[in-house]
Amino acid sequence: MALRRFSDITTVFLLTIYRAISLAFVDWPDTFPLGLLDLDIVDKIHLDPNTTTQFSIDYGQLSQAAPAAVLCPSSPDDIAALVRFAYTSSRYFAIAARGRGHSVGGQAFAPGGVVVDMASLGRGRADRINVSSDDAPARWYVDAGGEQLWIDVLHETLKHGLTPRSWTDYLHLTVGGTLSNAGISGQAFRHGPQISNVYELDVITGKGDMITCSHEENSDLFYGVLGGLGQFGIITRARISLAPAPQRVRWLHLVYTNFHMFTRDQEMLISKLEKGFDYVEGRLLKGKDVSSSSFISEEDSEKIKLLADEFGAIYLLEGAVYYEQATASMVHQELESLLKQLSFAPGFAFTTDVSYIGFLDRVHEEDTKQSSTEHEGVVHPWLNLFLPKSRIRDFESAVFKGILKNNNPVGLVLIYPFNKNKWDDEMSAAIPDEEGVFYTIGLLPSATREDWEYFDKQHHEILSFCHQEGIEFKQYLPQYVTETDWRKHFGRKWDVFVQLKRRYDPKALLSPGQRIFTNPL
Ligand code: FAD
Repeated sequence: MALRRFSDITTVFLLTIYRAISLAFVDWPDTFPLGLLDLDIVDKIHLDPNTTTQFSIDYGQLSQAAPAAVLCPSSPDDIAALVRFAYTSSRYFAIAARGRGHSVGGQAFAPGGVVVDMASLGRGRADRINVSSDDAPARWYVDAGGEQLWIDVLHETLKHGLTPRSWTDYLHLTVGGTLSNAGISGQAFRHGPQISNVYELDVITGKGDMITCSHEENSDLFYGVLGGLGQFGIITRARISLAPAPQRVRWLHLVYTNFHMFTRDQEMLISKLEKGFDYVEGRLLKGKDVSSSSFISEEDSEKIKLLADEFGAIYLLEGAVYYEQATASMVHQELESLLKQLSFAPGFAFTTDVSYIGFLDRVHEEDTKQSSTEHEGVVHPWLNLFLPKSRIRDFESAVFKGILKNNNPVGLVLIYPFNKNKWDDEMSAAIPDEEGVFYTIGLLPSATREDWEYFDKQHHEILSFCHQEGIEFKQYLPQYVTETDWRKHFGRKWDVFVQLKRRYDPKALLSPGQRIFTNPL
């Protein structure tokens, strides 16, 4: 016993010496109260420029803001300790959870504050993705750490023959990062965005409280956090609903020369909630951007290019039908009869069969085919919009046939519809007020440091057009800077948004990179 007390005293003594040395030699940022050095997490806080520099840029590569420090937590308790300390401290410093920094406008930055490297939570731990079920009625779900990548969630759930229903196009994004936005892809018309498929969350609020929330429990926090741009808390666990995983996917590319037919068919396909396509997206094919897809032969690509040259702009409807090996022939017959109802250009339907995981991970597979030099110096001036269906034709004539009309590259332009009733209006995500169907338009060019401003100018022109014409659009992954813009963005949800901020993050510590709240409330 005496020996143990002696060793405890020695440990405390050594820790005190260590902290004194830290104080003497570490260039502790002026903004940080020294009391932070007394917390147990101090060893997990990194101040060296090598680390902070890595966390001062994002996928967009267009802005830069260095944090003073990076926390590499090994448990949610470490994050809670940091937030509690910041909340009670008299000196202000902000905190941003960073998934993998796949934002393009600095949303995961914490200038002069602390970035929480969420990836550290899962490093070396196999227990942060767990599949289970409720007993009655049977309901399967996965509990995934907020830092987990969706691709890893998929791998784990497939071991049980199960899968989440709603996805993003790219799966190397984090659960917490996409749930803070919405998480959209071609399955959302049927299942809603990813935020519509969550049962429960563990959240660390801006006061450092660790709260479990769901539709029934602490529901204001639950609805606020989903699509809440990281403003009310840091998601450390999400319980996501699961369904049986299909084995195979028939993947289709259908080319349209007429925008009206293209959107009419997309809307018909998303109205079929039972049978029909399981995934519906679409894109603009234009000028130099008519590149071949992974399964369209070079010969067919040439045919598509000729069609694009003839019509100026053409459209690609991308669909997928999931099936089981055992029912393949029946599903293929049903698909043939469905295709007869669609109005794509004759001879321009291309299909292939792939595994379920091969289909879902398609963007990453394409990405890895590019060499690292192709990625070097590439910047991403992206603009994502949600538009009411009633204005999509106006947008087409002014933007696709107008602003983007010359032969310069436009990059990847996604166009696809959602059913609004699959989105929960109580959640923070902002979507158009119009009932029925709304569209997402993703203008996603890859540019160089020399030519990115060309795209930026194009995007400003598009936004000005929408303003002038009174199109009630919403930005997805929004990049606003003034309170007026944020008010307008959230519309009738703004007052609730502010109330939630006051309740859960009154000192405006969390996710400052979104630039919504710049002062404590
Ligand atoms: P980060 O960029 O690191 O963080 C985003 C925001 O969320 C920040 O404000 C951050 O502070 C906050 N945050 C991060 N983790 C947490 C957490 N655990 N709790 C609370 N707040 C948190 N989106 C789609 O919906 N559909 C797509 O198909 C799609 N495809 C994409 C493809 C590519 C190649 C890229 C780069 C992005 C794509 N996105 C898509 C956008 C993506 O959803 C966002 O970038 C999103 O922010 C997720 O990225 P991340 O996990 O790296 O989060």
